[in-house]
Amino acid sequence: MSGTNASTSSGSSTSGSTTTEPSIQQKNNLQRIALKKHQLKTWTRSKKLEKLAVYSQCRAADNTCKCNGWKNPNNNPIPPSDRHHDRHNNAVSQMTDPCRSCGHHLSAHVSHLDAVKEEELDRLLGIVVDVENLFMCVHIEEDTDTKQVYFYLFKLLRKAIMIMSQPSVEGPLGNPPFEKPSIKTGVINFVCFKFSHLSEKEWQT
Ligand SMILES: [Zn+2]
Ligand SMILES: [Zn+2]
Repeated sequence: MSGTNASTSSGSSTSGSTTTEPSIQQKNNLQRIALKKHQLKTWTRSKKLEKLAVYSQCRAADNTCKCNGWKNPNNNPIPPSDRHHDRHNNAVSQMTDPCRSCGHHLSAHVSHLDAVKEEELDRLLGIVVDVENLFMCVHIEEDTDTKQVYFYLFKLLRKAIMIMSQPSVEGPLGNPPFEKPSIKTGVINFVCFKFSHLSEKEWQT
């Protein structure tokens, strides 16, 4: 589906300064992020696990494997002739698919999630969305200091997924490991603030 909600009267006539109200764009970006998080919840469990595996440490060989994220072996576009029989199904990987990085099965990267409830998976996936937004921020940001802040937050949230910790929620003063009161709120605000400067074009890439 396309972003038909855009009533932003952009039209590339004026370049440079943003002429539209930032609040509208921020709202759009927020909606976009919220929608993405909502869509994740409708995924099948195996698809969720596959996504989380990308950010999860390999547990194979008594946790001695150093691989910190499952790499999809089927990531390269496969000629349709090779997999035509599998077309409707090729979005989801199998638990026995080997990691492109360490060679262990997908299941080795998600074994710690076996007993985890659906809501917890959704929560972790929500962080994944933030991480992926931050990843984009790190790449397109040109200011070195800002880039470092993004990268710091990126690493912090990645770690939160890795060890399944709560990056925020509990309350401002109750979270000793974090320097800031509410990392998650901070990240969301920061991402939205930053994205409000981007053009629609950059969002779509
Ligand atoms: Zn491994
Ligand atoms: Zn691996």
